[in-house]
Amino acid sequence: SRSKDFVDIHCKQLKFNEAPHNDTPVLSEVDILLNDLTFTISNLSSWMQPESASTNLATKLDDCFIRREPLGVVLIIGSWNYPLQLLLLPMVGAIAAGNCVILKPSEVSATTGSLVAELVPKYLSQECYAVIRGGAEETQELLKNRFDHIFFTGSKGVARSILQAASLHFTPVTLELGGKSPCVVYGPVNMTAAARRLVWAKFFNAGQSCVAPDYILCTSSTRDLLLPALKEALWEFYGEDPRTCPDLCRIVSPQHWTRLRALLEKTRGRIVIGGESDQEDKYMAPTVVVDVSEDDALMAEEILGPILPILSVESVEEAIALINRGQKPLALYVFSEESSVVKTVLEKTSSGGFCSNDGIVHMTLPSLPFGGVGASGWGSYHGRWGFETFSHRRACMLRGWALERFNTLRYPPYSDGKLGW
Ligand code: NAD
Repeated sequence: SRSKDFVDIHCKQLKFNEAPHNDTPVLSEVDILLNDLTFTISNLSSWMQPESASTNLATKLDDCFIRREPLGVVLIIGSWNYPLQLLLLPMVGAIAAGNCVILKPSEVSATTGSLVAELVPKYLSQECYAVIRGGAEETQELLKNRFDHIFFTGSKGVARSILQAASLHFTPVTLELGGKSPCVVYGPVNMTAAARRLVWAKFFNAGQSCVAPDYILCTSSTRDLLLPALKEALWEFYGEDPRTCPDLCRIVSPQHWTRLRALLEKTRGRIVIGGESDQEDKYMAPTVVVDVSEDDALMAEEILGPILPILSVESVEEAIALINRGQKPLALYVFSEESSVVKTVLEKTSSGGFCSNDGIVHMTLPSLPFGGVGASGWGSYHGRWGFETFSHRRACMLRGWALERFNTLRYPPYSDGKLGW
């Protein structure tokens, strides 16, 4: 009820401050958090129970079990794109597992950072939970301390320096990174539904989602059917002039706006939808670019903005080969009415998460682990997976004093035939 209180009181403040243009925070910051909290509270007593382990002849009389124990003090470093969720959702798992927590919000989403710094000490024990604000320099200073676990959400480059700092104290690290999440559209597809789901997943939070579909792979005939459907869905969601639509976010900072604008200027692809932008307002229209090749600027890095490149392929095998030439993505999407296409893509690729015929939705379920694989991240959280990430699984064997004669088998001297060989 305290968390509900937190939300009721502060949700409006958050909306007005950080994202004046829309209601996105309710769905992506608050609902998902409450969902995970409720799930964790309902299941925690069963997750906490010692897990009994099977025994063998030599340990038959012993009590063997796995005990989940807190790791100690954990550091959670957040990113700006979902500044509340990415701090507090891992914190749910960390508290559930019994840890003390230090939160380090992103300096880019400064308003949420200051709100979290104001509210956490108000609602949670100051002995166990603290918020430390700052950018790269302050975080490096913080990292000189010894933690029992570091949970980092952010970019690959910074992840390397987190790993370096953690290595000095042998601190285990969870990395929640990003990358280019592909979306294959292949075979018979309900174009209207596909376009609506794709437009939602891509342009929610103006494309600034780590699991947003980064690019589309389809045949040129599918592309010709998809484009009018995408236009229609964009019109339906954001109207004739998306700039005036209260449901379309702005780009988080002038630096990110400039980075995205530069991508649009460098691309050799053809902009067929959108392309308009306004530096002053950090506005960028939902933009679709076709005829994009694998070596285009739009394919060189994670886009993390409202630009959707479409690459043409001849077959689903070609799409799979292209995906597998890159690093393992955080999410992978496939849209098709043919289950064999979905199965082939699922079986022949690897990614942190997978969702067919929709985007992002898989990460809203607390029963599924959320995290990357390889370059898109190490480890996972949400629901039980967060509890496990922040727990030590201690192997316990409680022995009595019986059957000492049986133990003589393993004590020296090892005369021939003693062990039955
Ligand atoms: P970032 O790496 O620049 O910053 C992340 C955090 O690290 C911030 O709190 C920042 O203050 C801190 N930081 C920055 N430089 C640092 C340094 N030199 N030393 C120590 N700490 C430093 O990343 P970002 O721009 O906030 O996030 C964008 C990236 O995060 C994208 O790749 C996106 O896909 C990824 N992301 C992943 C997830 C996920 O759940 N997997 C979620 C959101 C974002």
